[in-house]
Amino acid sequence: MEKTVAFQKNARNVFFHILTRCNLRCKHCYVNPKQHGTQTLPTETIRDWLNLLAHPHKKTNLIFIGGEPTLHPDLSSLAESARKMGYASITVDTNGFFFNDILKRATPDTVDYFSVGLDGACSQVNDYIRGEGSYNTCVAGIEQALEKGFNLSVIYTVSQWNIDDLKHMPRLLKALGIQRLFIQVAGIRGRLATNKKEQGQITRKRWAATVPQLAARAAGMGIHTTYPKVFLNKKEPFECAGRVAENYFVFPNGRIYQCPLCEDFPLHSYDMGRNALVPRPPINEKDLFDLSIPEGCVMNKLIQPGNIDYDKHGKPKYKIACCLLKEELNPSNQSGLDTAGGSK
Ligand code: SF4
Ligand code: SF4
Repeated sequence: MEKTVAFQKNARNVFFHILTRCNLRCKHCYVNPKQHGTQTLPTETIRDWLNLLAHPHKKTNLIFIGGEPTLHPDLSSLAESARKMGYASITVDTNGFFFNDILKRATPDTVDYFSVGLDGACSQVNDYIRGEGSYNTCVAGIEQALEKGFNLSVIYTVSQWNIDDLKHMPRLLKALGIQRLFIQVAGIRGRLATNKKEQGQITRKRWAATVPQLAARAAGMGIHTTYPKVFLNKKEPFECAGRVAENYFVFPNGRIYQCPLCEDFPLHSYDMGRNALVPRPPINEKDLFDLSIPEGCVMNKLIQPGNIDYDKHGKPKYKIACCLLKEELNPSNQSGLDTAGGSK
């Protein structure tokens, strides 16, 4: 069954970047140390912030993210603490290297999902983007995690470098025994925003000709598949998640954003205070959420205006959807977690 996943209005999602360090240097990496620092948060600080971000009544999904979160030596005990605090689900977004013996130290009772970044169905494609040897290490890590009984999903970030290989992913996932695929799109964020020489973004035409069909095929093979909507036709309603959903993207320097596209700018909604989230004065991302423009997402218009085509009257031919709006194809029609992080 295919459906557009409306923002979950009763759910809260906390995407907690516990560090920004990583052993890889993916071409599309969204991490921006200039904006978010290079520190690894001390364990007790993470526990304090987790306590602040938990909610006594609202279901809250927690996603540990980085950098590479398994580089944090206390990730397994942090997941245990989060479980005790009542987080509804706990996910670790990882590059599949599974550092610090996390697969031995954590259990499927404390980590509900590992979401693993893999950007090709073969080492040639994946390693061009993510680095020499990363495919073999990641696939070996996936196999170990599955043996230990963890739930796994794969995050595939579509770019010019790997869109042609996407068609091979369903077969690979079936062979590995993975039932869940998150397709992301490489945007002008992090490394792609600063590296003007190597732009990996794909056109609307190529996206439309490839991704929805592939997602349908994957779902036909029994794989629960989610992909970003990206473009809306003129009749489809536009909604900004910053206005209607509750997402917190938390960084180790204490910045808290509600919109991932704002993360390259000092536009965060809150700073982490000693005992509370401290709202930031204008101008911040909240001022942008309230603007209504015919192109749809204001941040997209600001940071990648070339993505929008106009007709001869100067009207946009389509709208850019909120980057958090997803299309979901769920073969079993069971509810699942709809959250994955960035281009892991
Ligand atoms: S995308 Fe993820 S795995 Fe790749 S370099 Fe960035 S943080 Fe590391
Ligand atoms: S991506 Fe655009 S529409 Fe979505 S939260 Fe950000 S500003 Fe709003």
